[in-house]
Amino acid sequence: MDWTLTEDERAFRDEVRAFLAQALTPELREAGRRCSGIFSDFAEGQAWHRILAARGWSVPHWPREHGGTGWSPMQQYLFARELAAADAPPRAPMGTHMVAPVIMAFGTPAQQQAWLPGIRSGEDYWCQGYSEPQAGSDLAALQCRAVRQGEGEDAHYVIDGTKIWTTHAHHANRMFCLVRTGQAAKPQQGISFLCFDMATPGITVRPIPSMSGDHELNQVFFDGVRVPVAGRIGEENQGWSVAKYLLQHERGAAWSPLLRRRLARLRAHAAQQRLVPQDAPRLAQAMAELDAAIDALEASERRALRAQARGEPPGAAPSLGKIAGSELRQRLTELQLEVAGPQAALALPLGDGDHTPLPVAEAAVFAMSAYLNDRAASIYAGTNEIQRNIVAAQLLAQPAPEAASADEPLPPDLGMLCDSLARYLRVHAPVPRTRQPAEGAATPAWWLGLESQLGLLIAARPEDEGGLGGGLATHMALMRVLGTALAGEPYLGRAVLVPALLQRLPSARAGALLQAAVAGQVRIALAHAEPDQPDGRSLAGTQLRPGAGSSGAAWQLSGHKSAVRGAHDATHLLVSAQTPDGPALLCLPADAPGLQRRVLPLRDGAMAAELCFEALPCTPDDLLGPPGTATAEAITQALDEATLAVCAEAIGVLTRLMGDTLDHVRQRRQFGAPIASFQAVQHRLADMQLALTQARDWVGALAQAPLHTPAQLARAASSGHLAVAHACRSVGQGAVQLHGGMGMTEELAVGHFFRRATLIAQQFGTPAWHARRLAALGPG
Ligand SMILES: Cc1cc2nc3c(=O)[nH]c(=O)nc-3n(C[C@H](O)[C@H](O)[C@H](O)COP(=O)(O)OP(=O)(O)OC[C@H]3O[C@@H](n4cnc5c(N)ncnc54)[C@H](O)[C@@H]3O)c2cc1C
Repeated sequence: MDWTLTEDERAFRDEVRAFLAQALTPELREAGRRCSGIFSDFAEGQAWHRILAARGWSVPHWPREHGGTGWSPMQQYLFARELAAADAPPRAPMGTHMVAPVIMAFGTPAQQQAWLPGIRSGEDYWCQGYSEPQAGSDLAALQCRAVRQGEGEDAHYVIDGTKIWTTHAHHANRMFCLVRTGQAAKPQQGISFLCFDMATPGITVRPIPSMSGDHELNQVFFDGVRVPVAGRIGEENQGWSVAKYLLQHERGAAWSPLLRRRLARLRAHAAQQRLVPQDAPRLAQAMAELDAAIDALEASERRALRAQARGEPPGAAPSLGKIAGSELRQRLTELQLEVAGPQAALALPLGDGDHTPLPVAEAAVFAMSAYLNDRAASIYAGTNEIQRNIVAAQLLAQPAPEAASADEPLPPDLGMLCDSLARYLRVHAPVPRTRQPAEGAATPAWWLGLESQLGLLIAARPEDEGGLGGGLATHMALMRVLGTALAGEPYLGRAVLVPALLQRLPSARAGALLQAAVAGQVRIALAHAEPDQPDGRSLAGTQLRPGAGSSGAAWQLSGHKSAVRGAHDATHLLVSAQTPDGPALLCLPADAPGLQRRVLPLRDGAMAAELCFEALPCTPDDLLGPPGTATAEAITQALDEATLAVCAEAIGVLTRLMGDTLDHVRQRRQFGAPIASFQAVQHRLADMQLALTQARDWVGALAQAPLHTPAQLARAASSGHLAVAHACRSVGQGAVQLHGGMGMTEELAVGHFFRRATLIAQQFGTPAWHARRLAALGPG
């Protein structure tokens, strides 16, 4: 989303756009659009690479001393995004992104001089010789043999064997290749990393046509191929660490730019197609959900770039990114097929660089190719099952993360407050906590301490009111910590939701109530959700009508508000209601005569009340501002701020669930082994971690985003909610499942956190409501 860019980043983006506008020919753009595989046809890809090289932008991610640009991670990301958005042909990564980092990290100065300039200019085109017929996922089982012969200047390896699935070997003039140079007890130990010319005698390339009809794959045979020893990168028999380093770069690519562009094209195609009327809203919603998932992926990719710039090890990020990116691509192609309908069946014989006009929409013709080719996305670069193995191994090797700690540094005052809050909660509000007999209808004792000792009610208020400032960002940092102790309420209602609403209402009474609320002099609850509006957002059943009959009241309020959090001990209620002029908001004393209040506990441990109004007399003084659009917008925006606060709370809740689950699977033994050793358990953990990481990174990005307009706030809230709702399901259900029977009890914390996670996914709008709203808002 562009509204997250700084001025400088916008200027950079505009510079790239201007360049693309003049450099990308219609033929190149067409090649980009029609690319249905990993990267575009050879000729167009190379032509585009050379244009970029002439501008000095063919390898922007390389260090300056090797011809890179010195751009920041964000600039590199923007560059990739602009290229994708302009339909630039995706270029093959084997040279620029795979072997080049290896040459820089492990190559000698002579090797760097010999190979890097050709990759940068596009003169050389590389292919990857890793897989063999008997060595796929188990790459270390490779058998292609290289025997060292000769001495001094004449020292060389003689290679015999075969490599398979070698993409674009028929175009490449160079190969990097893993060969077996020694037999050791551990298969990883006898491998070397060789680079050589594809024109070397003894090399044969056999094409392997894909099911899409494309020719990208090959099998390569080596028959006594002589490669100078100077072509080896790293030490003999030590090639495995070189190979793994390369794989991290292969998997670490950003997926979101191209996904976003393909989704935009899909939307355009759907808009042109005569979709079945009943299908159109469902497809629009599915595309909105995909959009939100791409937002979350983009946040993780940007975060990984920042971590890389700080020199941090990538950890599981490349594997998580590969799983997420490839699976989203596959989801996208399913929608492409559905939108294309019967036209997807057409198999047009289009060769490389063929610009023949098409009889039907281009997007329809290429939908099937994309669907077929993208099945490979979860296979190449290490299958997604192998990526899940890697993620789980990393997770299980590390201590459980500190649930309360932020991922990016917080301002010092806020960081200190969060630390104090976490300490306070550990001592005074441990989970599971037994409810005090008197607590049912009263504010919990631990909260009173938070108000008085840490000043939590005013923490996010402006500095001139005694707070730290920061508004929503401060709320989100605190809510994340509160989530770790299931202590989101009453902070959410009293410090976030009600102030967010009151400060948007122009009336003097609202201003006075706001001051009293943040000073803790009154306790106000918002009564908005209605039992017959299951989306949690719509307002219909509660009506405010002009007074009638003998009551003499100006207005009468009738309706039912359900599960009103905080209403059990509120002094005042803010009640939303429909009027003939539009939505209105009333402030009523909680003990108003005629108001029926039934206090009930909620499933997540919070307290609430059911409120019923039957022709409750009201006066104009009870109204906070005139009924109409402005009030409706104020309610929506306050609910959106609260949604984002709850998203942050969810990260605390889910991080704790993940940590507890990791502890459990390490300790629990069945069949004579810790259950963490079973692959089914590991893959479930990997999926939980994936959902949590994406939600965490996206919510973290939203906390920093400048949400100036109501539309920005709405988009952020809905997109954040969707990522969080998915994570709540994945992590919550996974945590209970992996605890087995123990997960079902009240005794462990897991059940308590699971209940809260489940309700978060429904709070302030269901996922379906948020997806519908995103679809209506359109792309950001
Ligand atoms: C389009 C495409 C392009 C490619 N390009 C190249 C290239 O340029 N150079 C190159 O060297 N290779 C390339 N590959 C090969 C790719 O890396 C391998 O296909 C991949 O590593 C899987 O190996 P395999 O095909 O032998 O499958 P297998 O390893 O036989 O796996 C078959 C199934 O078993 C599962 N499986 C295997 N082991 C495990 C395990 N331990 N735990 C759980 N599940 C497991 C796999 O996930 C998979 O679902 C390409 C592949 C494709 C599809």
